[in-house]
Amino acid sequence: MSARDSTPPSGDPTAGPGPASALPAAAHQPTAHPDAPVLSKGTLVIDVDACKGCDLCIDACPVDVLRMTVDDVNDRGYRYPQLLPGCIACKACSAICPDFVFQVYRYDEPRDETGGTRG
Ligand code: SF4
Ligand code: SF4
Repeated sequence: MSARDSTPPSGDPTAGPGPASALPAAAHQPTAHPDAPVLSKGTLVIDVDACKGCDLCIDACPVDVLRMTVDDVNDRGYRYPQLLPGCIACKACSAICPDFVFQVYRYDEPRDETGGTRG
């Protein structure tokens, strides 16, 4: 499932000499601009006071958009996760959390939440 398969496709024009016109169009795909907004495909409702600060959700998120608080704790004295822009609504966090802290919602259309959505 890795995108880093070691075997190039047969007939890869970059594997040997050939005319420049043989390069596939995909070789010219633009890269994202560094100032481009981060789109979110979903969001979370986080039951902050149910969290016990185990960090399991942090490692489970495949796009690394959960961060544990540093200077704040919940009513039980535990750090808790906050959501950054870029959630893909995969539900990995809700699946792994032993305390049912998360509700995951998928947006109909991706949204730019780089302006600051509080988790
Ligand atoms: S739903 Fe998926 S992408 Fe969104 S915060 Fe949870 S684990 Fe990360
Ligand atoms: S997995 Fe659940 S209990 Fe553990 S830190 Fe994340 S939200 Fe809190």
